[in-house]
Amino acid sequence: MNIAHWLYQTALARPASPALRCGEVLEATYHEFATRAFALSQHLVTDFALRSGDRVALFAKNTPRYLETLYAILWVGGVVVPINAKLHPREAAWIAQDAGVSVIITDSGAVFDPADLPADCHELPITETTGPLPDRATPPAACVPEDLAWLFYTLGTTGRPKGVMLSHRNLMMMSLAYAMDVDQALGSDHVLYAAPLSHGAGLYNFPLVRAGACHVFPASGGFDPVEIETLAGKLGNLVFFAAPTMIRRLVDVARATSFDGAGIKTIIYGGGPMYATDLDAALTQFGPRFVQIYGQGECPMTITALPRDLVADTTHPDWRARRASVGFAQVGVRVRVVDGDMNDVPPDAVGEIVVAGDVVMQGYWNRPDATREAITDGWLRTGDLGSLDADGFLTLTDRSKDVIISGGTNIYPREVEEVLLRHPAVSEVSVIGAPDPEWGEQVVAFIVPMSGVACEVAALESWCRAEIASFKKPKRYEFVPELPKNSYGKVLKTNLRESLK
Ligand code: AMP
Repeated sequence: MNIAHWLYQTALARPASPALRCGEVLEATYHEFATRAFALSQHLVTDFALRSGDRVALFAKNTPRYLETLYAILWVGGVVVPINAKLHPREAAWIAQDAGVSVIITDSGAVFDPADLPADCHELPITETTGPLPDRATPPAACVPEDLAWLFYTLGTTGRPKGVMLSHRNLMMMSLAYAMDVDQALGSDHVLYAAPLSHGAGLYNFPLVRAGACHVFPASGGFDPVEIETLAGKLGNLVFFAAPTMIRRLVDVARATSFDGAGIKTIIYGGGPMYATDLDAALTQFGPRFVQIYGQGECPMTITALPRDLVADTTHPDWRARRASVGFAQVGVRVRVVDGDMNDVPPDAVGEIVVAGDVVMQGYWNRPDATREAITDGWLRTGDLGSLDADGFLTLTDRSKDVIISGGTNIYPREVEEVLLRHPAVSEVSVIGAPDPEWGEQVVAFIVPMSGVACEVAALESWCRAEIASFKKPKRYEFVPELPKNSYGKVLKTNLRESLK
């Protein structure tokens, strides 16, 4: 089953339903969305000889045309290679080469020197026209569930990115889990793309196309809290995915504008740690509109979820610990925490998180070695450390590569970050390990001070002394105006480590 069939069916069942909006402006009904995607798919077949299994890169900003193009590729049975629009063209060209794409679609159609692209690869503008639209689309090419649909390049903090192979089955399982465990997908939803479509926010289009929801592209092209408040008021039932750093900005602006979240149905957060102080502030400002997910490119958006009622709960004896967790396994996913020999560790003990299920990737594109390292007997090694409690709630500690080992003892940066964030002079923090001749590594805290508040080392030291064991206390503080983040809002710890060299 081709996942593009979901668009084909929705267009037949609800042709006049609003499908694509730029800001408040309606750009396409479902009938128009599907016929445009179909017409472009035929153009790709007729004029560029695109065939089932061929890879097509999408290196473009979030616009309604992005979704039409994405479905055009899938319609043919092609494989979408979404490339983060903020990458340097040289990095994008590397991905296009690695994936062996036959077409690359860009904002202008003139980003690359053909010599940098694979032989016979065509670059087209996303605005490519296709002639008169047909009255009706014919169904998408049939395919088997294992056929590839999506080749997602993980940014990777070291070395070259790897292409995560996701099949139609993977995407369908992710969508079913969305509907069961994350949010009820409804035709009345307005799904807002405030984060890049090349990542998780884009993957979530599938369950919402199936539901006949309206897909809204901010006119600003990105994440603008004031615009979100306006759209919430005008359109209502907004649903969007946001990294925790985006939620913090949303809350800061909402406090200033006295916005209480009216018109927002659901904010799905994940992709990085949500600190307790930030979540408390968000719940106070907006009420119970939050659902947490934990996933990674290799198991897209679908490892665990913390449902809306449990995010907001304050009655269960363990509510604090549960709120700090990432919830429990999503439907169809098995989650274990293991030691180095893949044996389960006892409840509450820290180990590596491994997952299995129909949403786990097929492997890395052309990298059997890396695939073997990542998947052991059907279990994907996430590289994340965490613990499972007796009730099945998973708490993440850190990425294994971010753990600091000082004097032979493990220190989890997240724990130190949570403590420092509670200090009134601290706005943002990131804790890393720096080489230390005596201890192996020492704890270094990068602090973004709260504006207009004095933030002094002595005060932070005594704060930490009162809250955590002495060996976990930062040995060094670096005050910075902002933390380096990637375009998905994740703090780039590698850059922080580099800055100390
Ligand atoms: P990516 O493959 O770029 O989406 O990154 C996935 C990684 O982000 C995971 O392996 C985790 O380390 C982190 N991550 C994802 N979701 C969460 C979450 N809810 N809380 C904390 N970290 C998360």
